[in-house]
Amino acid sequence: MTKILLVASEAEPFIKTGGLGDVAGALPKYLNRDNLDCRVVIPNYKGINQEFKNKFKFLKNIIVKVGWRNCYCGIFEYQYKNTIFYFIDNESYFLRDSLYGYFDDGERFAFFDRAVLEMVKAIDFKPNIIHCNDWQSGMVPVLLELEYKKDNFYSDIKTLYSIHNLLFQGNYDPKILGELFGYDMEPYYNGSLNQFGAVSFMKGGINYSYKVSTVSKTYAQEIQTEQYGEKLDGLLRENRAKLIGILNGIDYEIYNPKKDKCIEYNYDDNNLENKLKNKWVLQKQLGLPQKLETPMISIVSRLTSQKGMDLIVGIADRLLQKDIQLVVLGTGDSGYEEHFKNFQRCYGDKVSANIKFSNELAHKIYAASDIFLMPSLFEPCGLGQLIALRYGTIPIVRETGGLKDTIKPFNEYTREGNGFSFTNYNSSELLEVIKYALKWYKDKEVWEYITKNAMNSDNSWEKASKEYAKIYEELLEIN
Ligand code: ADP
Repeated sequence: MTKILLVASEAEPFIKTGGLGDVAGALPKYLNRDNLDCRVVIPNYKGINQEFKNKFKFLKNIIVKVGWRNCYCGIFEYQYKNTIFYFIDNESYFLRDSLYGYFDDGERFAFFDRAVLEMVKAIDFKPNIIHCNDWQSGMVPVLLELEYKKDNFYSDIKTLYSIHNLLFQGNYDPKILGELFGYDMEPYYNGSLNQFGAVSFMKGGINYSYKVSTVSKTYAQEIQTEQYGEKLDGLLRENRAKLIGILNGIDYEIYNPKKDKCIEYNYDDNNLENKLKNKWVLQKQLGLPQKLETPMISIVSRLTSQKGMDLIVGIADRLLQKDIQLVVLGTGDSGYEEHFKNFQRCYGDKVSANIKFSNELAHKIYAASDIFLMPSLFEPCGLGQLIALRYGTIPIVRETGGLKDTIKPFNEYTREGNGFSFTNYNSSELLEVIKYALKWYKDKEVWEYITKNAMNSDNSWEKASKEYAKIYEELLEIN
């Protein structure tokens, strides 16, 4: 049986800050149903729910080198549903309030990456494939190729590197090569890790892996251009033969309006009256006037420029002149957080700004609202629009990355389409498309049609996991 180790910096249901957490939780579950043995390893963060931690099994502790230092590394194991998860423990690195954003993130993940390779031998789980994700695990393929493959245990392991967001690259002072990895400067001087004067974990992942994937076909093309390439477009063009785009799915068991325990009234596309009842309940919960006819427009997102917040802030005053309700759930840059709090102060009966992270409220919003806004500047795949589709909440998106690949704009002549979209990163275009959607919202028959199209779009992991399985097979064939 093919053994895969998925290395990630977050995974549902243990800990998640964004889409990567969703992927690392869901993909293994579906791969394991297809007779693969896919396990996952993440750091043992402080934020993991204590109820889970109480059930973790301590396997052993080992010593992991960070440069010249010997560091403690505990290994825990926990089987959640059909997947075995490993947790790399080191309190000084991971017993912290947040997952990322510390001055020593480079050191924390240098430790983690080496710990992963030490772990597989220590517990004798020899994967055929190590599947790394984003910059935090970018140095795993580097360590494997430069060092660990000299040992027979590792010599035939293949690697896949998945980019979930090219913006975050893990670029650090070149001296980390010696200080954190115990290497000389060769891989910096030969260019394989050197990203404009820094050592880049992301560049390492791209250069040293057998194949590179990203999370939509459009993003796979876009990142080869200067506009979206985050200064790695040249490298990605050079590596285009090993670059593939595979669209993420969403977990249809977690995101299922028919069974979702977070929402008051379960529903499917034959029972849309219940969707409306959820709107009624949420309006009350959020202190908005209970008006079923008023379209509820929602945002569930990190509040950052990537997510198109400048466009939303730019049109909010004009949009809020209309009979709408705007419900926001998100955290992020304080400037955007303040803007939304301010909109709530100025338009109290129309705006609910929830500046926090809440899974439960997210589910309630997806279920209750009519329209979901995601006008991203760039979007590798995007899960928000996929969840919205599943809950019959119509996405309005900018045509970029995965948004372009998953949202087919409504065509009033053929009645095809599951959402609305616009092309240029421009607030007038966004406002116009919202107005256009609101016009169709008034036509109950058409809106129901679009809602059903949305709910019948197939974005399950069932489909997506088959594509990963195919890449794994291709990797095994490489000599
Ligand atoms: P990204 O990974 O770039 O943040 P995605 O759209 O791929 O964006 O995934 C975001 C995920 O995080 C979705 O599942 C979304 O519902 C969830 N999410 C974002 N912000 C919040 C929040 N404040 N509270 C709860 N869930 C959130």
